[in-house]
Parts: sequence; C-alpha cells; structure tokens
Amino acid sequence: MKPFTSTISIDEARRRLDDAVRAIERTERVPLDQAGGRVAATEVASEVDVPPFARAAMDGYAVLAADTAGASKESPVRLRVAARVFTGEMTTAGAGGGDCIEIATGAPLPSGADAVVMVEETRKTGETSPDELIEIMVVAHAGQHVGRRGADIAPGDRVVADGDWLTPSRVGALAAIGRATVEVFAKPRVAILSTGNEVVEPGQPLPPGHIFDVNRFTLGAVIAAHGGLAEPHRPAHDSLDALVRALDECADADVIVFSGGSSVGDRDLIADAIAKRGEMIFHGIAVRPGKPTAFARVYPSGGPSATVPGKPHGTPFFGMPGNPTSCLSNAYILLVPFLRAMARLPPHRPRVVRAPLGRRIASVVGRHQFYTVRVRDGVALPSFKGSGDITSLSQADGYIEIPATENVVEEGTVVEVTLF
Ligand code: AMP
Ligand code: MG
Repeated sequence: MKPFTSTISIDEARRRLDDAVRAIERTERVPLDQAGGRVAATEVASEVDVPPFARAAMDGYAVLAADTAGASKESPVRLRVAARVFTGEMTTAGAGGGDCIEIATGAPLPSGADAVVMVEETRKTGETSPDELIEIMVVAHAGQHVGRRGADIAPGDRVVADGDWLTPSRVGALAAIGRATVEVFAKPRVAILSTGNEVVEPGQPLPPGHIFDVNRFTLGAVIAAHGGLAEPHRPAHDSLDALVRALDECADADVIVFSGGSSVGDRDLIADAIAKRGEMIFHGIAVRPGKPTAFARVYPSGGPSATVPGKPHGTPFFGMPGNPTSCLSNAYILLVPFLRAMARLPPHRPRVVRAPLGRRIASVVGRHQFYTVRVRDGVALPSFKGSGDITSLSQADGYIEIPATENVVEEGTVVEVTLF
C-alpha cells in the first residue's frame, strides 16, 4: 500500500485546475444546423438588410396614409382594392390616389403605400363591380404596421461576436442573413478509458468476478453535455505496462480521463504510470466522495521531457476514482468546469433550491462532502448510499455540500440543493 501522504482541499484543486486549463484554439466550419451550442470563432457582420424589403406586419390593406385622413367608424373612407399581394409575391399595382392593396403579413409593401391598416379596422362594402371597395374605419399613420427594410439587421451590423455562445436565437440571426455555415471553435477531444481487470463492456458476457463498465458511459454523457467530444478507448488492465500504453494511445486527445486505479492499493498504478509519462499536479482531494482523484500533465510517448508539437504544456490528465459515484461526482465538480473553459463555453450554473432536510445527516470532519438528496414535497431526503453505488446519484435530484469543518446537519435545517 502507498497511503496518500497528503490531500488538498477542493478549493485548492479548483485553483490548480484553473491554472492548468488552456482554451481550445482549433476552429472548424460547421453547417448552420449543427451550430447550436457551439462557440463562434469569428465575428460575423451582415452584408444584407433584414428584412430585405419593407413588408406588412399585419394582414390588412396597404394604403397611402394620407388617403385615410378623417376616417372613422361613423364616416369611413372608401378605397378601391387595386390588387392582392401574398408573401413571396410582388405586385406592380400601387397604393394612393384612392387605391389600396390587400396584403398578407410578410408580403412586400407595394409602391405608393406607406402604412397598413389591420383587417379588423376595415369593413367590406360588398361592392365588387367594377372594382372591389373597402371601408377604412381609422386614420392610418405613415409607417404603421410596416416592417422597414433593414429594421432588424442592417448591412454592417454585427450579428455574432467572436467567442459568442451560439444560442438558438443567434443561429437564427445567422440564418436571417443567409449564412449556411459558421466558423466555430473545435470541441475538445476527450479520451475516456476505464482501468481495471474486472471491467467488461455492457452487452458482453460477464465472467465471474467481473462488473460492467459504468464510468465510461457516465463520463461520456457528461462530456457530451458540456461541449466535449468523448472518444472512448478499450479498458486497460491493472499493469504498469498496460497503463503506460493506454496513455500513449490517448496521446493525441486534448484531455485524457481515466477511471480506476487512482487509489492506494497495490494494483492502483495510475501514479506510477504518470511518473513515467508526465508530472502529477495533485493526487488526493479532501472531498467525499472522490478522494482518490489525480490530475496531471502528461507527455505521452516521450516521457516528461518530450513535448508534442502544438502542446507545449502537455495533455491534461484526470485520474478519476473507479467507484461510479465518486467518478461521476468529480466529473461534475472538477471536469465540467475545466472542459467548459477549454471549450470556451460560459460556466455551467446549475439551479439551486432551498429545502428543509428531512433526516439528519452525519458527515466526516476534514473532507468536504457532496451529499446526494432527493427533493420530495419540498423536503430534501438523503439519497447517498455509498460511493460504489451508481443509484446514489441516479435516484437523486441533486446534492448538498457539507463543509470539511462540519460533521452533522440536523433534520429541519434548510439546505441548498444544487440540482443536476
Ligand atoms: P478502483 O478505483 O480501481 O480502486 O476501483 C474502485 C471500485 O470501483 C472497485 O469496486 C471497482 O471494481 C469499481 N470500478 C472501477 N472501475 C469501474 C468502472 N469503469 N465501472 C464500474 N465500476 C468500476
Ligand atoms: Mg481498479
């Protein structure tokens, strides 16, 4: 056994991770229908007007406002309906001089017109011969119910700034100016690999003494949800050779995440593998669950002195605990902020609700605890079973944090639950 000589606080772990993170520089061009949730790698300015033409904002009649002077319900103004125009059409007929054009929302404003009167403010006369006549019952003001050309976006307007997170509405703005593709930052490629002689892919037969790989899938799901591109590798056995080989295999990823083997048992060889291929930045955090977590810089294939072209700082490496709850908990707490910063995404802000605790919780002094809870009828109920139990998390709604200095939270205490 190689007991942890020291652990660092969760805050110190976060500081070291913040220091180590490098935002991705690679960019790629993606079609607009894949742009949602990505980060723009360049400013985009419009070269066109949106809308491209003045258009009706209501269904009704396009008029010359001056033609409606004095109109009221009691003494309406009668106008001749010279034409009808729908969306996608143009009309050569013009408004003014007693003529109006029946118009649909979004149709181009005909020449001569400077206002639209809503259909609700008009009355049919029933006269259709030789021309249809309509009664206008209100005075129209110039510009009324008209969408000006370029009112939304004018040429030169910035639609997206460099580094903008592409929300659905920003994707919409790009579509509005006719862009079919957009330059975005590449998603960080995250190599995931489970270590352990006992780990078997779901779907395969389970030999005696073996378990199905959980961590590869929880990590993959977290990484995909927070802007990364998960690249799963086959599980590695608990031998130094196998682990070093596994590190080398993951060499070209932007981040490497292993699970298992990061504790202090004789078969926990992550620290030894790191010693061969890089430098440890921390190993052991005063947190529960998730104490045996390692973070390192690795320089695969060449050892600590070798630098990979374009990667002078090596490749960040997370050694997560094998216990599924510990692994996932630290993925949320440590990997997510790191990955989002790397992907240039805004920080994740989970929702927090306050609720009284339904049952007393005993904690351990000296370790910051993330304790999972369910929220039922406004009450927070403990959900934590054990670090090895995935249901500690899968049946929880969120977690509460119990600082390292406290060892008990009494029933009825109002706690802040961070929701998943
Ligand atoms: P370790 O961190 O390697 O000492 O593993 C701690 C516990 O987690 C052991 O019970 C392992 O069998 C289990 N474990 C390790 N890796 C995985 C995995 N990928 N999926 C599910 N359980 C695992
Ligand atoms: Mg193991």
